Amino acid sequence: MSESYDVIVIGGGPAGYPAAIRAGQHGLKVACIDEWKNYDGTHAFGGTCLNAGCIPSKALLESTELYHRAKEEFAIHGIKLGSVAFDVAAMQKRKAGIVKSSTQGILALFKAAKVTPLAGHGKLLPDRRVEFTALDGKVQVLEAKHVVLASGSQPIELKSAPFDGKQIVDSWGALEFAEVPKRLGVIGAGVIGLELGSVWRRLGAEVVVLEAMDTFLAIADQQLAKEAQKHFRKQGLDIKLGARVSGAKVENGAVTVSYTDAKGQQSLVVDRLVVAVGRRPHTAGLLAEGTGVELDERGFVKVDDECRTAVPNVWAVGDCVRGPMLAHKGKEEGVMVADLVAGHHSEVNYRTIPSVIYTAPEIAWVGQTEEQVKASGRPYKVGSFPFMASGRARAMEAGQGFAKVVAAQDDDEILGVHIIGPMAGELIAEAVLAMEYSASTEDLQRTIHAHPTLSEALHEAALAADKIAIDFPNK
Ligand code: FAD
Ligand code: AMP
Repeated sequence: MSESYDVIVIGGGPAGYPAAIRAGQHGLKVACIDEWKNYDGTHAFGGTCLNAGCIPSKALLESTELYHRAKEEFAIHGIKLGSVAFDVAAMQKRKAGIVKSSTQGILALFKAAKVTPLAGHGKLLPDRRVEFTALDGKVQVLEAKHVVLASGSQPIELKSAPFDGKQIVDSWGALEFAEVPKRLGVIGAGVIGLELGSVWRRLGAEVVVLEAMDTFLAIADQQLAKEAQKHFRKQGLDIKLGARVSGAKVENGAVTVSYTDAKGQQSLVVDRLVVAVGRRPHTAGLLAEGTGVELDERGFVKVDDECRTAVPNVWAVGDCVRGPMLAHKGKEEGVMVADLVAGHHSEVNYRTIPSVIYTAPEIAWVGQTEEQVKASGRPYKVGSFPFMASGRARAMEAGQGFAKVVAAQDDDEILGVHIIGPMAGELIAEAVLAMEYSASTEDLQRTIHAHPTLSEALHEAALAADKIAIDFPNK
């Protein structure tokens, strides 16, 4: 007889493993199947986020930012270091250690929640049966009352610049460089392209970022995007907008990239090329014939607001379904599904999913941009506060950027918050909480913020929306 579960989750990334843990917390019998394979052939839970995305990128961003600050800023603080040097191998070793302990941590979490980890491939068969192929090739058919698809995403490959794993690489490859490329090309000025470009720029690479769109960071509030562009340019990231890549050729150890811009056909020679043009849903080998699960025209698993597929008791969460490809979005969906499966009420507030870009300065936002609010026709007000006027930011030698609040003129509700500056990714949590509770700017204005803290910038921006800021002249 085949083994039977209440819930089988296919995919152990940041969408799948929280679904499995929450289902386990509800006392359900749960298995989580995952097939991730590292470059060295070892298996690990955690998906893209822990193995090749959020965590390793943040580890390298931290190391390289520290190096940059030691070199450029310590002297301002009166710290004399002599010469400052870096060791890429040591940085990579530290990163690998963080990744390993994080992925092993998932197994401990599974144990505590009584989730059965199954390393190998999962394929949904009709009638909520799942074919599990273990790493040793052994095949078993499992049964489940509920199946959660959490198969994630994969980097998009450009036909004109196919990955060769050495000189033309995806984001994972760019996190594994053993040495600093002298000249680095990055295709795509999205979140991933900017973070990876920053890592290697800080260590001395000449970085050129080619972006097809004419607008920089079109998804962000444009005031924020313009401020960011100014800082990246100053850091030496050469961002070429309106530059559409049409080909890349590896010759004599270098990559010649062809692209077209307003002036016509151009070319660029680099030592390594990172293709960071986005990700697509990963559903290859996930669905057998006749399951009834539908994909949309872009290959995402079709789901409703509660992550139900077209098939009763088959759910899908994370990067393989519509919405922003973010780890925390997948986590909330995974948890919601497990709660719903257990008969509890649950929902995801898709209007308050924060976005963070971990560059320096950091960039973070939640809710609508000023452009979106303007386009909606709703009368609005804006308040902003520069970190230059924040005592804490100045003490940190981090007075770049600003916090900006966009709110409705009629009922004062906060519609969007946009921050570029020190620890923006941490500061945005206050805005998310405020918006989750439908807070007004008055609510933020009346909330006491400790002094001196970076969070005072958000407080002052809320005050500025009504032209009553204290620490900066009101316009
Ligand atoms: P994944 O993490 O892709 O996990 C899916 C898992 O399912 C994988 O382990 C895969 O091997 C497995 N799988 C797939 N199909 C099967 C199958 N049939 N059988 C068994 N197993 C299967 N997001 C953020 O929120 N913050 C960040 O700072 C951030 N930084 C990033 C940096 C980089 C360089 C990259 C590439 C991504 C980053 N992301 C970040 C995005 C984030 O990693 C993804 O949104 C997140 O990992 C999606 O989670 P998921 O669980 O849906 O999918
Ligand atoms: P994201 O989807 O946020 O990871 O960003 C990917 C970026 O790559 C987008 O801003 C795209 O406009 C950009 N892009 C996609 N294809 C090309 C191309 N052929 N040349 C240059 N930029 C591209």
